Amino acid sequence: MLDWFVVGAGFAGSVIAERLASQRGDSVLVIDRRSHLGGNAYDRLDASGILIHQYGPHIFHTNSDAIVQYLSNFTEWRPYEHRVLASVDGQLLPIPINRTTINRLYGLSLTTEEDVEAFYAAQAEQVADIATSEDVVVSRVGRDLYEKFFRGYTRKQWGLDPSELDRSVTARVPARTNDDDRYFLDKFQAMPLHGYSRMFDRMLNHPNIAVMLETDYEEIRRSIPARNVIYTGAIDEYFGYCFGRLPYRSLRFEHLTCDCEWYQPVAVVNYPQDKPFTRITEYKHLTGQNHPRTSLTFEYPCDSGDPYYPIPRQDNQELYNRYRQLAEQTENVRFVGRLATYRYYNMDQIVGQALAEFRRIQGEFPPCAEP
Ligand code: FAD
Ligand code: UDP
Repeated sequence: MLDWFVVGAGFAGSVIAERLASQRGDSVLVIDRRSHLGGNAYDRLDASGILIHQYGPHIFHTNSDAIVQYLSNFTEWRPYEHRVLASVDGQLLPIPINRTTINRLYGLSLTTEEDVEAFYAAQAEQVADIATSEDVVVSRVGRDLYEKFFRGYTRKQWGLDPSELDRSVTARVPARTNDDDRYFLDKFQAMPLHGYSRMFDRMLNHPNIAVMLETDYEEIRRSIPARNVIYTGAIDEYFGYCFGRLPYRSLRFEHLTCDCEWYQPVAVVNYPQDKPFTRITEYKHLTGQNHPRTSLTFEYPCDSGDPYYPIPRQDNQELYNRYRQLAEQTENVRFVGRLATYRYYNMDQIVGQALAEFRRIQGEFPPCAEP
C-alpha cells in the first residue's frame, strides 16, 4: 500500500510530495489530470522555441528566506524585477500608480512624495468602512484614477464591479508616492533560471515518487490503495458540489508569435479601458531569452473553463467554510493549495502553505527511527 496519494502536481502537491519522499522516505504517487507537471506555473517551448507560460505570466516574488532556500534546492534563479504599464487614455503609464503616472497623466510636475500625497488626498473620497475593492481605491486616489485604471480592468477580470469584491483584490496594487515602478516590492524577485517545468522535474525526480499524468482522481481513487491523500484540486469538486458550486473565474489564453524581435517595452501591458482582453504578456522580458521572434499571450477572462481564480467575496467564503467543515471531518485526506483552500494565493504563499502542512504531518506521524 502507498503511503501517500497526492492529487495535483502544482506547487502544493509537488512540494508536499517532495518533502514526504525526501525527508521521510515515504512512498508517494502524484497524479494530475493535465499532461504535465507544474499546475498553473507550467512553462514550455512553443513552436518557435520561445519559452512561454501556458497559463499566463508567473513571476516569482517573496519576502520569505525559507521559501527561497527551499526552492533553490531545485533551481538556480535569474534576477528579474517585474514592471507593468497600463494603456490609459492613449499612453502607457506605470501601474501601480506612482508619481510618474500622475505627472504624465495630468501633465503635472510633482517632485516630492509630499506633493503626491497631497494630490491623492485632494482626490480621495471619504469612506467610513473600507470593505470593497472600490472603497480601497477611491479612498486612496479618488474616482478618476479608479475609473481609468481599476474599474474596467476589474470588471473584465472578475465579471464583477469592484464594489462587489472584497477589498483584498485591488489592495494587491497599492498606489505609491515615489517613482518606484516595480510591480512587486518583495526582497526576492526572480525567475527560475531554466523555467518552472525544469524546477518541477527536479522536485519530483525521486525514487520514492511515481507520477501519473492525464489521470483524474475520480478515475482511480478506488483502485489505488493509499494510507493518506493530499488533495490540491477544487474542494467543491471533491465533495461532488454537494452544497453547490464555488465560483471560480477562468481565463482563455491566446498565444501567438510575432515576426519582430520585440512587441512592447515591458513584460506585461494592462488594458483597463477599451480592449476585450485584460493584458498582453511578452515572455522574453521575463526569461531573458534571445530570439529574433517574440511570443505573446493575450488573456480573456471568462466564467467557464479551468478554475483559475477563487473569487474573494463574503458569500463565497461562507460557502467554502461549509466545504471546509466537511473536509475537516474527512479522515486521511488533507486539503492544500489554491483550489482546495479557496484562497487567492501567490506561488510563494502556496509553497509556504505546503511546507506548513508537511510540518503538521511530521508532528502527527513522527518518522520511524532508523533501525
Ligand atoms: P494549481 O497550480 O492549480 O495545481 C493544481 C493541480 O491539480 C492542477 O494541475 C490540476 O490539473 C490538478 N487537479 C485538480 N483536480 C484534479 C483531479 N481531480 N485529478 C487530478 N488532478 C487534478 N502567483 C505568483 O506568485 N506570481 C504570479 O505572477 C502569478 N501569476 C498568475 C497568473 C495566472 C493567470 C494565474 C491563474 C495564477 C497566477 N499565480 C501567480 C498564482 C499561482 O498560479 C498559484 O499560486 C499556484 O500555481 C497554485 O498552486 P496549486 O498547486 O495550489 O494549484
Ligand atoms: N487591477 C486593476 N488594474 C490593473 C491591475 C490590477 O484593476 O491594472 C486590479 C484587478 O482587480 C486585479 C487586482 O487588481 O484582479 C489584482 O491585480 P494583480 O496584478 O495582483 O492580479 P493577478 O496577477 O493575480 O491576476
